[in-house]
Amino acid sequence: TECSRQDIPHSIISLLDGFKASKTLFTASKLKVFDVLNSSNSQTLEEVAGQINASVLGTERLLEAAVSLGLLERVKQQNTSVYRNTEQASRFLVSDSPESLNGYILHCNDMVWPLFSHLENAVREGTSQHERAFGKKNEEVFQDAYYSKDEVKIRFMDAMHSIARVTGKDVATAFELSSYKTACDIGGCTGAMAYEFTKAHPGLSVIVFDLPQVIEMRRHFQPKETDDRVSFVAGDFFKDDLPKADLYILARILHDWSDEKLHVLLSKLSKMCTPGCGLLVSEIFLDEERKRPSRALLQALSMTEGKQRSPTEYRDLLEKHGFTPKHIKHTDNLLDAMLFVKEDPNDKRT
Ligand code: SAM
Repeated sequence: TECSRQDIPHSIISLLDGFKASKTLFTASKLKVFDVLNSSNSQTLEEVAGQINASVLGTERLLEAAVSLGLLERVKQQNTSVYRNTEQASRFLVSDSPESLNGYILHCNDMVWPLFSHLENAVREGTSQHERAFGKKNEEVFQDAYYSKDEVKIRFMDAMHSIARVTGKDVATAFELSSYKTACDIGGCTGAMAYEFTKAHPGLSVIVFDLPQVIEMRRHFQPKETDDRVSFVAGDFFKDDLPKADLYILARILHDWSDEKLHVLLSKLSKMCTPGCGLLVSEIFLDEERKRPSRALLQALSMTEGKQRSPTEYRDLLEKHGFTPKHIKHTDNLLDAMLFVKEDPNDKRT
């Protein structure tokens, strides 16, 4: 019997191959294929193989797969085939391009891929598989898993930096913020997001607050033109005093922690805020039925102690600490944003 076209389960078939496609992108990035092709416009297979120090056969299979995924192009030049980056690869995959995702891609390869290879255990046990994947227990995700080794720390910071540079402008311009003069980016990492905020808001200064191990690396990530409206303060947001500001930014912080832990941080923020102070939350917002986007739900499978939440869940969490939601923006970029304002506790009109 003939199978009608509609019977072919295209979406399942593409999921069957999804992991191979991801690993092709990761491997091409790790072997610096996009950087090599960026340095001279186009190269033959043998030239690429030589530069990435890999076998011709293996390089050929990798480059052909990358062409099929739209990451590279192969064209004829004087009777020989040459490879070159697609426009998208030049913009997002070359490691030193301003919007490079390279840092995040290497983090996915080196950190997330090993964790996901233990997904069965993660689901059975409901716990992070860090110990199985890396042979080391991690009590504290940042201090133990990411920051105990410099090489891993830089890779993680690079990953945060690359996402922040790609989404930062959309988050920074999501709302009218001209009434705020000083902001504090809580867990602001390399400062990439902070620089987008000062660029977008000429009257705003931003203090980046993060753990000492992160702040000590800040020079590694300074943009070419430094901005004296961005400053850095080291501390632990669960234990130490937070800098005073009239706008607090929480970008990709809340999803990492349980409600209980967040109540500690949010009650500190609430005490720091006078009525009218703002709190800007930037996360991937789940829809209210927790069906989409799958990017958020797939990320949750890494089983950190946090969770992905919908706008209503963020609202409920923050309202307990006197913050009222004012605006929400779905940016169509990697992160959405919600602006809360601290209410006057004596104001009963709410
Ligand atoms: N906000 C940045 C962004 O959106 O690109 C980074 C987000 S990253 C997922 C979480 C950040 O929180 C890291 O930079 C990490 O070092 C910081 N962090 C984690 N625990 C912290 C703590 N207890 N005190 C201060 N910063 C912390």
